[in-house]
Amino acid sequence: MYERISNTRQDFLHKLSTKLVNENQVVVVENLHVKGMVSASRTLRERNHNMSRSISDAGWGSFTNFLAYKLKRKGGKLVEIDRWFPSSKLCSNCYHQVDEMSLDVREWTCPHCGTHHDRDGNAATNIRAEGIRMLKTDGTAVSASGGEVRPRGGRKSNLRHSPVRLEAPPSGSARVG
Ligand SMILES: [Zn+2]
Repeated sequence: MYERISNTRQDFLHKLSTKLVNENQVVVVENLHVKGMVSASRTLRERNHNMSRSISDAGWGSFTNFLAYKLKRKGGKLVEIDRWFPSSKLCSNCYHQVDEMSLDVREWTCPHCGTHHDRDGNAATNIRAEGIRMLKTDGTAVSASGGEVRPRGGRKSNLRHSPVRLEAPPSGSARVG
């Protein structure tokens, strides 16, 4: 039973990653592995949330690995955003950041600019923008030939390097949670 569920999930992750890679040159994801599970200052509630996340991380890890190697194969790029980037709490319209956003809030209105957001849609927009920002600051995103990748020293990034062409279509983004 467990094996069957596992196979079904793998199959789904393969199909979804293939679809995303076929449709995009760049895919931006939240990296759910970057930081440890808990920090002392976090509340019990957040800790439980992280626990359930770490369990689902096995699937998310496979998924991002599928994305990474499939993108690499076609010369695309996977950009991973730190999991503590405030993707949900940031207004994608005016960049106002709210202090708290409990998990049951599925939509909200920005107190600063009044924009009404779908939680995940807004987060995906933020993740996409952050991914593009990272590509730009990384300095390796764009080259005239489309093939040259020249990492610079200094700021460490989470890019999995592979060439990206100038004429790349808009990047996609994916999110869980
Ligand atoms: Zn706003």
